[in-house]
Amino acid sequence: MQHYPKGKEQADMGRIWGRRIGRRVLVFLLVSAMMMGFVQPLAAESLEDLTKRSKDIQNRQDKATEDLSNFRDVEKEIEDAITELEEQIADAEAQVTLKEAARAAVEVKVKEAQTRVDAKQADVAQCQKVMRSRANAQYKDGNVGALELLLQAKDFSDLLARAEYLKRLEEKDRKELNNLKTSKEQLESEKANLAAQMEAQETLKNEALQAKAVLDEKTEEHKGALAENKKRQDELAREIDALEKEAEEVGEKIKEIQDQSQKEGSSAGNGSINTWPVPSSKTISSSYRTAKRPNHTGVDVSAPQGVAIVAAGDGDVIISGWGGGYGNYVVIDHGSGMSTLYAHMVAPGIAKGTKVKAGQNIGKVGSTGNSTGPHLHFEVRKNGKDINPKTVFSWLP
Ligand SMILES: [Zn+2]
Repeated sequence: MQHYPKGKEQADMGRIWGRRIGRRVLVFLLVSAMMMGFVQPLAAESLEDLTKRSKDIQNRQDKATEDLSNFRDVEKEIEDAITELEEQIADAEAQVTLKEAARAAVEVKVKEAQTRVDAKQADVAQCQKVMRSRANAQYKDGNVGALELLLQAKDFSDLLARAEYLKRLEEKDRKELNNLKTSKEQLESEKANLAAQMEAQETLKNEALQAKAVLDEKTEEHKGALAENKKRQDELAREIDALEKEAEEVGEKIKEIQDQSQKEGSSAGNGSINTWPVPSSKTISSSYRTAKRPNHTGVDVSAPQGVAIVAAGDGDVIISGWGGGYGNYVVIDHGSGMSTLYAHMVAPGIAKGTKVKAGQNIGKVGSTGNSTGPHLHFEVRKNGKDINPKTVFSWLP
């Protein structure tokens, strides 16, 4: 089982992929060359070669299917991460909107405060203007105003009274001006506070915007990884299709050889498969073409090493030899296009060309070839193509 780490090891995955695909392309080209007759004429391929190739195709199909499944898992993880990021982005956007609304509200208050400050400033200016004009009247304009008021005094006490009146008038003006100035300063300080609040909201809004930008970038990265992942899934799907086609072609060639032997009347069987190949065990460790192993073309019967394997029906031993994945294996042709295959035998099984009866010993359970422990890999084939052994042995899981 290959594990594909998320994120930073994408590049490594890419490299591993490149290598694997490269090797496959080479195998494909070699097989194509063989099929086209450049390396070896088609007719010279024996049943052993074909079965071996069939097993090799199956192994590659298993691998590609497992890889595809892994990529689908990773795809799901990336999609979940994107969903989560999109939720976080929505939160960040809500924050931006909130802070912007708060800032705008404070801005309105700042403008109101400014209006009040301006109004107060106008009052101050008006007051100063009044005072100036009165002073001018008193000291510069000799015809009117304070000077005239004083000059028109009837006597000294009247003069004093008039002077006192002018002094109080001036004091009143000054007090009013000071009040106006204080009031304006208060308003200005209020406005400054509001402006500071506005700036704080602006900062918060910018922080939320920044957080959103980071999340956006992360989402884009994930989407890129997702696109790459989907591209590889497509490549794998195409490869699986190609392998499936190749497997079919191999099966067809097996059928041709069987047809030939039938035409020559050399078949010992009548097409009947009726005997379970491991009399001492009915324990199935892996079934035919499961979801997890869609390219597993037989059933695995677990049994201790050395236990007897018997012919599943009358027939001719058409293959007995070594196959890369199958190890020591035997194929029996039962006639009528039916055949059975027995793989991973501990030692070479019954000789090719032997005519066998159902239940007759043909070899012993082992773990040769592509196997992790003693078991019999048992296949039933019809016209060269694997079929579910359950169609013959209905009790199978
Ligand atoms: Zn198997």
